[in-house]
Amino acid sequence: MKLIVGIDIGNATTESTLAEVNGGDINVLSSGIVKTTGIKGTKENVKGVFASLQKAFQSAGRDMSELSMVRINEAAPVIGDVAMETITETIITESTMIGHNPTTPGGAGIGVGISVLIENIDEKLSGEDVIALISKDIDFQEAARKINEMTAKGVNIRGAVAQKDDAVLINNRLNKKIPIVDEVLYFEKIPVNMLTALEVAEKGKVISMLSNPYGIATLFKLNSEETKMIVPISRALIGNRSAVVIKTPKGDVKSRIIPAGKIHIAGMSKNREIEVDKGAEPIMEALEACFPVSDIWGETGTNAGGMLEKVRIVMAQLTDQDPKNIKIQDLLAVNTFVPKKVKGGIAEEFSMENAIGLAAMVKADRLQMERIALDLQEKLGKKVMVGGVEAEMAIIGALTTPGTNKPLAIIDMGAGSTDASVITRDGRISSCHLAGAGNMVTMLIDKELGLENFDLAEDIKKYPLAKVESLFHIRHEDGSVEFFEETLDPRAFARVIILKEGKMIPLDIDEPIEKIKKVRRDAKEKVFVVNAVRALKKVSPSGNIRDIDHVVLVGGSALDFEVPQMVTDRLSYYGVVAGRGNIRGTEGPRNAVATGLALSYEEGQL
Ligand code: ADP
Ligand code: MG
Repeated sequence: MKLIVGIDIGNATTESTLAEVNGGDINVLSSGIVKTTGIKGTKENVKGVFASLQKAFQSAGRDMSELSMVRINEAAPVIGDVAMETITETIITESTMIGHNPTTPGGAGIGVGISVLIENIDEKLSGEDVIALISKDIDFQEAARKINEMTAKGVNIRGAVAQKDDAVLINNRLNKKIPIVDEVLYFEKIPVNMLTALEVAEKGKVISMLSNPYGIATLFKLNSEETKMIVPISRALIGNRSAVVIKTPKGDVKSRIIPAGKIHIAGMSKNREIEVDKGAEPIMEALEACFPVSDIWGETGTNAGGMLEKVRIVMAQLTDQDPKNIKIQDLLAVNTFVPKKVKGGIAEEFSMENAIGLAAMVKADRLQMERIALDLQEKLGKKVMVGGVEAEMAIIGALTTPGTNKPLAIIDMGAGSTDASVITRDGRISSCHLAGAGNMVTMLIDKELGLENFDLAEDIKKYPLAKVESLFHIRHEDGSVEFFEETLDPRAFARVIILKEGKMIPLDIDEPIEKIKKVRRDAKEKVFVVNAVRALKKVSPSGNIRDIDHVVLVGGSALDFEVPQMVTDRLSYYGVVAGRGNIRGTEGPRNAVATGLALSYEEGQL
């Protein structure tokens, strides 16, 4: 007799299943659930794994020393992230930016100084920090000669901006190398005699100072109010190899616009380019046309570029890789709207602006999970093995739901991704992982109601609404009335409340109950109903959802009080029967992957 544990490290929760193995018999004893520590697929997960293990052992009344083996989910190949950007173009004042990716900028590093045309640099500037502006009329040899001469005379030339593709030619001829941004098309638009910051990244890297609002604030010595103003600039520069930001003085305010930009989708056989301001539908259509997708990126210097590159860079940093190797393999784009302060308004007027919400799915390094397994093995002193692909394990777990049998499909609705898999009568499994799940629903509710409070949005997602109409009765969101014998809390009077675990929590939102309910339901529809259909299309052996008969819904979001119903309604349209899972007859829709990992243990693995 041996004890083994299956552990599923998710974006939100780390779930475990403790089982006893007797020859070929596997008997589940207990389960554990805790919040995931750190971002899924990174070393920080180990702490949560420990805690989850402890819970499972405690509830079975067994001792950790008896443990023989841990099986974790494979590769966590996918990590979701959500971002949101208004489609309407962002207006920035008081600063100018050039963010672009010339193929061959010169040098590397950061330079800060006053922008001066190279022909106007003379000894009078000695001791000053200067950024040289080199127009197309000045030949590279002349430019290099002048920079060398002026540097010798004590002018601190910290960097240069060139109109032609000359950066490398110039830099090769300099006695003291400087960062040079070249191929700047609208050279004549660069303001002169202004404080300018310039950054060129090392080969294969991306800029880090100018793509960070606090980086710009440091270089320009901005206060917190000014730093807020330049956030759109830094965001649009994320992912660039080189950039220039120029501080234009107050009063000389010209508004500049950061375009919404385009998204490029590279498929195995087709490529597409879509303008973000056309909305979510064309993006999703293009994505389907390009399936299977190898990478997705946004146009640099635009909102779309900033949004997608941020995902790539965060993932690269977390997994210690070059951003170039991070591939975005799925997107979920949804149309939404956000309240925006009206520019020039006098009483904090808000208007609703169209926006697009994006969840991106990144395929991480397969070795990543192996590394976590090794780390865990060291800390536990027990054998740790990478058990199997998440969606495949989920279906093995889901089959423990009473009344289910092969063939079967599942949809695992978690926090970061919606995964699906199908098992045929003879046990063959196919699966997929899609961007967008519970976190995206919460983000949409948060943004559309202008809450800026993720926890509150999470509560609005999970619990039904009501209105306190008198001190003795409330009206539920479905219109029914409930009376109380004792007076209700007067602070809730005439307010919209959420009914959370027997408590009434008044909302500090000045919106009618119908509006809040609509935002909540629309968000769920846009994410889970859309993704359920997308996912089943992908895993159906024929590509047709109608060929699937039964679907079991699992994952934390299957606990939702209305999501399973919405998904079931839509699937019934395709003749598919769907319902919430009940893993091992006791766990509800939770613990499917961990159960699958424990049950797929094979003799001889120890
Ligand atoms: P993961 O596998 O990504 O860790 P889980 O399967 O643990 O995800 O599901 C987490 C998601 O489930 C979160 O988005 C959370 O908001 C959602 N969730 C958890 N409980 C409920 C509930 N009672 N109603 C609605 N959503 C819920
Ligand atoms: Mg999960």
